[in-house]
Amino acid sequence: MKVNHAELVISAVSQQQYPEEPMPEIALAGRSNVGKSSFINKLIQRKALARTSSKPGKTATLNFYRINESFLFVDVPGYGYAKVSKKEKAKWGRMMEEYFSTRDHLRMVVMIVDIRHDPSEDDELMYDFLKHYNLPITVIATKLDKIKKGQRSKQLQRIMEVLELEPEDTLIPFSAETGEGVEDVWRTIKAYIQ
Ligand code: GDP
Repeated sequence: MKVNHAELVISAVSQQQYPEEPMPEIALAGRSNVGKSSFINKLIQRKALARTSSKPGKTATLNFYRINESFLFVDVPGYGYAKVSKKEKAKWGRMMEEYFSTRDHLRMVVMIVDIRHDPSEDDELMYDFLKHYNLPITVIATKLDKIKKGQRSKQLQRIMEVLELEPEDTLIPFSAETGEGVEDVWRTIKAYIQ
């Protein structure tokens, strides 16, 4: 998809601040430092609209981006950063619950994992949490450029096994470095926002 327009609508911490426009939403979740900002920037062909986080775990807001006046990307704060206090984790949890349990416009969640490693316990918790809300999930296995071609299918298989992906879920190998997977991702997103 050609992105002609992409802008940050609001960084929200609570429901009162969510944008009111009746546009479909696609949420993006992932462990801190997994490559979520790079993923968004690659998709929307902007160098740094979504901040590439120099301080993992610091962006504790839901960032709503309006794309082409047709849908919203909702960048969910990264999880799994060890140095976050219990209090902050609890706050994060409340924010997630408030968003995922109330947002009617939410059509699908993109969950980003690193193709080089087995999904972490936090990834498993996130996946189960999203499933609990019956949300369609697209798992992006990013940093594809960092492994050898011969390892791809084995790593994808591991991700399917560890997360226990279900037949209705989508798994897409991706690289923000080479752009591999970009078209598959757009095709999937389009199917959910129409
Ligand atoms: P975030 O914290 O999840 O938003 O992660 P970032 O997008 O800031 O990425 C974390 C680091 O991984 C940065 O140094 C990125 O340049 C790097 N990175 C992200 N995606 C890729 C990718 O597909 N390939 C490679 N080689 N590096 C990546």
